[in-house]
Amino acid sequence: MIKTHKIKMYPNATMRIVLTQLFNYRRYCYNQALEIWNEMYDESVLMADKSLRPNERKVRNDLVNNKQDWQFEQSARVLQLAVSDLAKGWQNYFNPKMPNHARPRFKSKKRSKNSFKTDRAKIIDGKLRLDKPRGTKDWFDIRLAEKPRWSGEIKLTTVVEEADGYYVSLAIEVNENVEQKTGKQITGVDANVARFDYKGANGYQSVSTMNAKLLSLYGRITKYQRLLARKRVANPTNFRSNNYRSARAKLKRDYQKVTRIQADILHKFTAQLVRDNDVIAIEDLDNLHMRMNKHLAKNLHRSMFGQFKQIMQYKCEWNGVKLVLVDQFYPSTQRCCRCGYVKTGDEKVRLSGNRKHHTGHNEYVCYKCGAQMRRDENAVENLIQYAQVN
Ligand SMILES: [Zn+2]
Repeated sequence: MIKTHKIKMYPNATMRIVLTQLFNYRRYCYNQALEIWNEMYDESVLMADKSLRPNERKVRNDLVNNKQDWQFEQSARVLQLAVSDLAKGWQNYFNPKMPNHARPRFKSKKRSKNSFKTDRAKIIDGKLRLDKPRGTKDWFDIRLAEKPRWSGEIKLTTVVEEADGYYVSLAIEVNENVEQKTGKQITGVDANVARFDYKGANGYQSVSTMNAKLLSLYGRITKYQRLLARKRVANPTNFRSNNYRSARAKLKRDYQKVTRIQADILHKFTAQLVRDNDVIAIEDLDNLHMRMNKHLAKNLHRSMFGQFKQIMQYKCEWNGVKLVLVDQFYPSTQRCCRCGYVKTGDEKVRLSGNRKHHTGHNEYVCYKCGAQMRRDENAVENLIQYAQVN
């Protein structure tokens, strides 16, 4: 089982330069690979020959065979993993279950995140030792803020630069057999605009994914984004003033705060879910944006639900909990959990309720069996029933 731990790290001045070079090299490799990928694809279309289509192996071989002299002093792993990430990017882009996934784009130095991956890093005496390319003299182990939480072989190391410094994510192969829970405690989680609804020990409950701090941060982020955009429009050739830089730094810090608050909410909630339950049903949430309220900072908040699914997937695995991903076409909102009747046409419950029958936002009234329930309770109950038969 692979477990990941993200740790803050403190590289010295030499290693900070090395890291910057690695970030740049990874971006260079990715962009080169994307260019070759596009060329191969265009050629296959032009020649009407599917056997010429690009894939990870072909693109990697092309890059490796055409290395320039200076590249031999750079990490070969960074190159290989950049190509592998690009291949995954294409796969996700063509995956119909991931409609939000963007087409792979060239990474710009100004806009893209600084990161690279390697599978040759080690932990020596509590410090991170990156794989040293041949011919390099000055090389130091990097101090870490804490020890890795798990022991085992390090499979993949990802280094990123964030607003307040450098972080490393260690994917560690952990040798442990998790016993699948055999109990019957089952729950469903219905994700809503600003909260999760679920069924707990004390009946139906909800956890808010929104608080005053987040709201104010969303507001500030919108403000800075507009400010920066205005500056770019007003002076397109030379907008990198000190003011611009300082606003951008503030924006990055606010992004980081948002990420941390959201992660905190998600980790507490998911930890509680896997502790208290044996089977959990959640929606396959990729289409959740349909339900988003236009007043929320949509992208910021939407990303939370993608993360929710991801966290649930690994936490359930780690804890022997069965996770049921409910098909995205399952009508958990429209179905009556008492009699199974599914509403269609103008009977449907919308976000604002139902106009024809004058029901409210949070009401579910079944026109077949006459049941009256809260809309989220009905949805949660439907998810549970789905898990029971699937
Ligand atoms: Zn009914």
